[in-house]
Amino acid sequence: WQTFSDRINHVTPSATLAVDSKAKAMKASGLDVIGFGAGEPNFPTPANVVKAAAEACLDPKNYKYTPTPGLPELREAIAAKMLRDSGYEVTADQVVVTNGGKQAVYSTFQVLLNDGDEVIIPTPYWTSYPEAVKLAGGVPVTVFAGGDVNFEPSIEALEAARTERTKAIIVNSPNNPTGAVWSPETVKAIGEWAVEHHIWVISDEIYEHLNYDEAHTTYIGAVVPEVRNQLIVLNGVAKTYAMPGWRVGWLVGPVEVAKAASKLQGHMTSNVANVSQRAALAAVSGPLDEVHEMRRAFDARRRAIVAALNDIEGVVCPTPTGAFYAFADITALLGKPLGPNGTVSDTSSEFAAALLDEAHVAAVPGEAFGAPGYLRFSYALADEDLAEGMRRFKQWATRHD
Ligand code: PLP
Repeated sequence: WQTFSDRINHVTPSATLAVDSKAKAMKASGLDVIGFGAGEPNFPTPANVVKAAAEACLDPKNYKYTPTPGLPELREAIAAKMLRDSGYEVTADQVVVTNGGKQAVYSTFQVLLNDGDEVIIPTPYWTSYPEAVKLAGGVPVTVFAGGDVNFEPSIEALEAARTERTKAIIVNSPNNPTGAVWSPETVKAIGEWAVEHHIWVISDEIYEHLNYDEAHTTYIGAVVPEVRNQLIVLNGVAKTYAMPGWRVGWLVGPVEVAKAASKLQGHMTSNVANVSQRAALAAVSGPLDEVHEMRRAFDARRRAIVAALNDIEGVVCPTPTGAFYAFADITALLGKPLGPNGTVSDTSSEFAAALLDEAHVAAVPGEAFGAPGYLRFSYALADEDLAEGMRRFKQWATRHD
């Protein structure tokens, strides 16, 4: 390991995947674990999508490589979907189909960054952003905003973080891990600020269709048209169509960005699995009915989990209006003896470990998102599990002495 590269040694492993795999391993050993860890919808992939994939498997033409940036018809369908959902036009040659949204994040920074370039990352952030920036030689610059301001960074805070090396800013609304949907004013102001200072905007729109109450996704490229030639939109089928394991995502940017990302992909993965792209084509070009049904189910769970979390003394959870995460502040429970053994946790990381070991409830500590003191609960799990998990958490966190 001493001989491994600095690049890989500086990368922090994915804490969300670590919590999930520990929970899965405990389950496999026969323990009854309730998993709030993974960002995975518990719904099956829609039947029409599975059918399209099954048919594709029987057609030998799909046993071949596809063009590196993706099947032409899928790139067209993604462009059409953007017009439908985001309300502005892009062309198929601006689209690169990637192995999940995750590869789109990685490729974006490989394309944009030189050593020492800074990327402003509104915090709490999705755990992979800083690592993808570091892997590209960049420097993550975090700007924290708390639940009191809906986790929305102010322009003043962004301006204070801006330097001559600032190359890009990430916008992720609806947000993982907070579930916040940023206001149109905030999104627009960030777009205008980025235009003024020639800063790339990376807009991760993977939760675009999961909005609740009055919230709706504001597409930065729609509200600030001038930003489009310095905008890279990231997206994928994992969340919207309950297709995390199919590994299809994409990036959409100026044609030169797409060409550069495709050049990189040509040496890394060649292309996304042909059959998976056929499945994604059926998903992206189909209706959103099943998505709306999933959203209704998520909405009921959202209400249930927020009520249950706030019902635990010492837990404060703002009401999220997007994605499928609740982000709870548990700082009041740190340093207190909890559970039957009176376990004291000084950090949210220790707290999450104790909660998993002792109450068999898996949640991801805020440290994974640059926000110690919080726990992220994914509510993409069955209603009964949600209720049982919250019952256990409450019982464990309530002092009996
Ligand atoms: N972006 C955000 C904010 C996410 O939460 C995720 C998945 O958790 C992704 C991108 C990537 O998803 P995938 O690689 O499964 O398409």
